[in-house]
Amino acid sequence: MSELRHDPIQKRWVIIASDRGKRPLDFVPDAKNKKESFACPFCKDGFEKRIPYTISEIRDSNQNWQVKSVPNKFPALKIEGDLDKRADGIYDVVNGIGAHEVIIESPEHDMDIPSMSIENVHNVLIMYRDRLIDLQKDMRFKYVIIFKNHGQNAGASLEHPHSQIIATPIVPRTVTVELESARQYYLLKERCIFCDIITQELKDNKRILYKDNHYVSMSPYASRFPFEMMIAPVPSKHRHDFSSTTDDELYHLAIVLKDTLSRLKKGLDDPPYNFLIHTSPNTNSNLKGSYYYDTLHYDFHWHIEIIPRLTKKAGFEWATGFYINPTPPEKAIEYLKKITVD
Ligand SMILES: [Zn+2]
Ligand SMILES: [Zn+2]
Ligand SMILES: [Zn+2]
Repeated sequence: MSELRHDPIQKRWVIIASDRGKRPLDFVPDAKNKKESFACPFCKDGFEKRIPYTISEIRDSNQNWQVKSVPNKFPALKIEGDLDKRADGIYDVVNGIGAHEVIIESPEHDMDIPSMSIENVHNVLIMYRDRLIDLQKDMRFKYVIIFKNHGQNAGASLEHPHSQIIATPIVPRTVTVELESARQYYLLKERCIFCDIITQELKDNKRILYKDNHYVSMSPYASRFPFEMMIAPVPSKHRHDFSSTTDDELYHLAIVLKDTLSRLKKGLDDPPYNFLIHTSPNTNSNLKGSYYYDTLHYDFHWHIEIIPRLTKKAGFEWATGFYINPTPPEKAIEYLKKITVD
């Protein structure tokens, strides 16, 4: 059984996932392991049978599956059991209860979001939202994170297009920092910090890649990484929780997501990247006495962060959490805007 251990100095939780069963030598990089030497378990008519069951799927008009959600074969957290939060001397520990699912984005192996139809991308986003709604019904889960690793250098162990969902019994620190900033700003100004930033960015128009009546795609002012991107609802569509996004809004999101990822792919030669959705914590889950779970998070503003993995986090970044980004976001946008995509 894995467990979540709290580091009281850095105020961060770590999942000690002993069930993922790596022996010390498994971490040594091996070039021979680069290519998948086994039949892909996510391919249609491949080794699908190895997947124990389907959690949810979206089918096309011919009843063929297009997107499906399945349990992760090597889950970082396990679904069964009661939450057990306890002290271990000076430390805090929670048993590894959570959910770990894989979203298979397409039955086709050599597919990715830039090559998919808008309808397919739309279905992937509908699956994200619907799995989020479903997992938020579970009171044990305080947070649900949806993320994607693309390319081996971004942590993807399978080439087949897929993303992952992990529901955790704690709110991760990165999210807590964002929630606190949004709450403090709101208490002071009665406005959303994200809406104010987006309004100013739209006015400045130096770091905006794409905008329509629903979403904006931009490179953050203090981007940590070259070509870091953020996609978020425009201020008139402010939403704190991704689960409240309608089908129609997700269609527009599919357009902007595909456009942004297509430009990154074409402009940077298909770079490895991670993307993640930051949404509000699960407000169905009410942990007594906690500031976060007693309140709704209308002052938060969900967003997608896209992080191309073009630079490596080195000593200085590890030591300080202080990033050195050689590409100003204005230059990144100038470059991405010139790229033509269909
Ligand atoms: Zn495959
Ligand atoms: Zn907002
Ligand atoms: Zn964020």
